[in-house]
Amino acid sequence: MKLETILVRAGAEPDTATGAIAPPIHLSTTYQHNPDGSPVHDHIYIRDSNPTQDRLETALCAAEAGGSALAFASGMAAISAYMQSLAQGSHVIHHTDVYTHMRVLGSEYLPRWGCEISEVDMTSPDGIVAAIRPNTKLIWLETPSNPGMDIIDIRRVADIAHDNGALLVVDSTFATPVMQRPLLLGADVVMHSLTKYIGGHSDVQGGALIFAENSDAVGKIREIRTVIGGVLSPFNGWQILRGLRSLSCRVERHASNALAIAKQLETHPAVSTVYYPGLASHPGYEVARNQMSAFGGMLSFRVTGGADRALSVASKTKLFINATSLGGIESLIEHRYSIEGPTSVTPPDLLRVSVGLESKEDLIDDLYQALD
Ligand SMILES: *Cc1c(COP(=O)(O)O)cnc(C)c1O
Repeated sequence: MKLETILVRAGAEPDTATGAIAPPIHLSTTYQHNPDGSPVHDHIYIRDSNPTQDRLETALCAAEAGGSALAFASGMAAISAYMQSLAQGSHVIHHTDVYTHMRVLGSEYLPRWGCEISEVDMTSPDGIVAAIRPNTKLIWLETPSNPGMDIIDIRRVADIAHDNGALLVVDSTFATPVMQRPLLLGADVVMHSLTKYIGGHSDVQGGALIFAENSDAVGKIREIRTVIGGVLSPFNGWQILRGLRSLSCRVERHASNALAIAKQLETHPAVSTVYYPGLASHPGYEVARNQMSAFGGMLSFRVTGGADRALSVASKTKLFINATSLGGIESLIEHRYSIEGPTSVTPPDLLRVSVGLESKEDLIDDLYQALD
């Protein structure tokens, strides 16, 4: 089956009890069991599993062509659960440009949990090979990355990981399964913040891990979810499922709008650089063309005149709203340096935009009037 069909139909069977087409939301925290504790149906307690979550996991698993999927309360809950499954003494390598709280988890929490961490620029795979240690167990990357829009060659890094007895996890939040399917390129696990494009309406938080195989590791991380408790609420799971159903249409528009805006921004004299993997000027363009079917709805650009000019542009947009997060129907703009604080490695003249579903002409006009 094609992805568009999977996104609409996987885990979407009519309710067996009522025939309802829209899935029921099962809010029950507890399920009837037999006197010996065995379940009468499939579930026992909400923190272990529940029917709404089952539907979401079935759909996500199919969307990424995986063998198993686990849903969590947030993207960070998914990332943390994965990291908590590492044995003490493990060494983890991640790309230099990663989600802010992934960086914090790596630098502050992993050492407390007895693990070692290295940051490497993965746009050149040679750096990864040099960073490998005998105890390297995990390579973690985001592509496209946040907010630098770096593109990393998933197949190449997967080969390096596997040649050295490590696993590769790809945070594919920016790409969504519509544009990139890391498991088919050799990754072992895909991670998503469901809060972004998959939820898609800036009104629900969730996260997921999708595994290439249904191995013992999945059981271990499922147990971590039960014990540590980063569990998705059934209501949120239901909302995310609803978002997933229209993902392919939305992502097409996000990506075509972003490409048009990126091309237009490149010609503006006050814009010094545009970071968008769909531009031939982007260093990752060729790799992006090979591993993605479109280039996404996120882009960053730098303006002439430094931080002051960037803040002035952000203050003058009328359609682009100053807000963090991404992947919703509405267009957002953000001066990442201000948000990330003094430890930020983001250039102060950079603005990141999440391109929404409005008319691309209106969006370009808005950025142009803010830049002039
Ligand atoms: C938002 C985000 C996360 C964290 O997800 P939450 O749902 O906010 O916890 C992780 N990775 C990327 C790339 C993100 O954009």
